[in-house]
Amino acid sequence: MLNKKAIFDLSNILYQTYGNKFVFDIVTNGFLLKEKDVIVWKKIGLRRIKVTLDGNEECHNKRREMKNGSNGYKQIVTNLSKISNEIDLLINIVVDSDVYGIGDMLDTLKSNNIQAKYSISIREPDTYSPLEKSQIIIKYSKILYEKGVYQYSKIGGNHGSICAGKNKHHYVIDANNNVYYCNGNFKEILGKCIDNFKKKSYNVKDNCRECKYLPICYGDCRFGSNCQKNYFDIVIPELLKIYLHE
Ligand code: SF4
Repeated sequence: MLNKKAIFDLSNILYQTYGNKFVFDIVTNGFLLKEKDVIVWKKIGLRRIKVTLDGNEECHNKRREMKNGSNGYKQIVTNLSKISNEIDLLINIVVDSDVYGIGDMLDTLKSNNIQAKYSISIREPDTYSPLEKSQIIIKYSKILYEKGVYQYSKIGGNHGSICAGKNKHHYVIDANNNVYYCNGNFKEILGKCIDNFKKKSYNVKDNCRECKYLPICYGDCRFGSNCQKNYFDIVIPELLKIYLHE
């Protein structure tokens, strides 16, 4: 958001080259997000915007303090109320043991006519045990359910989509044009943007082949171990109780 010209210039080149085959998403804290920009970016491929909010006004402002002491939360809510009819809006709630006021936050967004889908993410680095992590996700999923808002990415972990590291056509590019497998490994540079290279294909690890979670997890991290089996064992039955009891 500090370089809106770059967003326009790059997206416009790609849109003029690839037409409707090119789409892009933005992840932002929402503070500098303006309706007029969204209207322009939509015409050159903007598909959705994801904004992070952490709890109610007091909680969010404490965790994301503005240098000049201004009320960042209020500004973000104002910005979102102006764009929510324009674009697919996702609100990600980053949680840990210090977050509070999620119910208040949802009420505020509703009273400002903000239409959005919601997800819950655990603050990184995630040092919680599978049980602790499950308890956090279940607690907040219940709140979202009771408030009647749509929760996407329900399991609160990497699932349901193939991560960048395994996806053959997904690359991460940094500001110096270095290209990487994913944003989880910046040690291995694949090359520069203009080089002709391909990712090595991903092979599902042996211990994943028989796992019942393979269809939602797509296997372990290609650069290490990030198995969430113990977490899935606890969280999935509890989430099913929330969402399927009716
Ligand atoms: S949950 Fe663990 S064992 Fe199962 S597919 Fe995922 S990484 Fe592999």
